[in-house]
Amino acid sequence: MKLLAFIALLILTSCGVRPSEAMESFAEFEENPVILPVIDDTASFSQITEIPFVIERAAIDTVPIFPNEVGEIMIIVYHGLHEYDPGPFDRLTSDFWNDLQTLYDQGYRLISLADLINNNITTPAGYTPVAITFDDGLPSAFSLMEMEDGTLAPVPGTAVYIMDAFYRKNPNFGRTAMFFINGFPEPFRGAGTLEERFRFLLDHGFEIGNHSYGHPNFAILNAVQLQREIGLIDQLMRRYGIEPLVLAYPFGIRPRLHLIHYAMAGEYNGIPYSYAWALRVGNTGVPAVSHHINFNPTNVSRVVASDESTPYHVVPDLGFLLRLFEQRPYLRFISDGDPNTITVPRNNVHLINMYSLGDKELVVYDIYEEYEEFEYEYYYVEHDEIQQAG
Ligand SMILES: [Zn+2]
Repeated sequence: MKLLAFIALLILTSCGVRPSEAMESFAEFEENPVILPVIDDTASFSQITEIPFVIERAAIDTVPIFPNEVGEIMIIVYHGLHEYDPGPFDRLTSDFWNDLQTLYDQGYRLISLADLINNNITTPAGYTPVAITFDDGLPSAFSLMEMEDGTLAPVPGTAVYIMDAFYRKNPNFGRTAMFFINGFPEPFRGAGTLEERFRFLLDHGFEIGNHSYGHPNFAILNAVQLQREIGLIDQLMRRYGIEPLVLAYPFGIRPRLHLIHYAMAGEYNGIPYSYAWALRVGNTGVPAVSHHINFNPTNVSRVVASDESTPYHVVPDLGFLLRLFEQRPYLRFISDGDPNTITVPRNNVHLINMYSLGDKELVVYDIYEEYEEFEYEYYYVEHDEIQQAG
């Protein structure tokens, strides 16, 4: 049954199955489009049947938008940009521009991690939020130069320069990204003081996150070492008036299980710290949606910014997921345009953790019965119209 297939695919792409085992490549995925395990969703479903605040709004004007506010949101991880021969974790400058263009054309709109974490999704109806992050505070992602008049401006070719140029051309894409910094080497280098660099980023809608002081492997650190690594950068950020919110594990490697709570809270030199989310590198099976039943703030997935043309690409990376979501748009988070409501098709209700909704209203609608005849061409015609209107 097709419906079961959708749910199975959702779960496959968002559960503990290692993607490399489940699908080696896109080609294999296409050959074996759907693997159908028997899904037991009774445990989560039985809890919610009595929930009184579910709002039934079958007549809501959901077509052709089909909001799905429990679908996949990508947090993309970049490191540096290079014009030629990028290293294993870097991206070609031209590919970075193309990534922005593809995301824009396919209906993605930038969201800050602060908004994502606070579940404040103001993305216009019919569009999918996407977050961009840069690890390691590299100068090719952001650095400043002094202009003739003495002011500071981003160096041409850096990610900040490119995102600003893209934003000027396409203002409704948004302009935000989070830069995860270390203490050494000094974040971003280039002109300006550390304070001026931070200030420039914050003044232009960008965010700064904690990537540990010395970029060690967290899996071999003890409790004291972990808190020192996190606490040092935490206190550096606070010195410059930045409220720390997100941690990105160095190398994407988590602390050992019995120490993992130090990623979320601890103290160094008597000063406490706390984090809302901690991000990995690659697909951990944990969606970047805090009201999803599989959400785990210590293990949030990030999508590696590579594709089939890059030498070190690992499926599912950005290239893979862009194609997957283009072919199967119902897997994507699609906004209803209202940050105060969570709107989902009825068949995705079981993916929602009802205890995490806070003040939000849950809006449920029926469309999946029509999926048997659902034509994706139809979806795209309508979606293009929305884009032009928006
Ligand atoms: Zn790193």
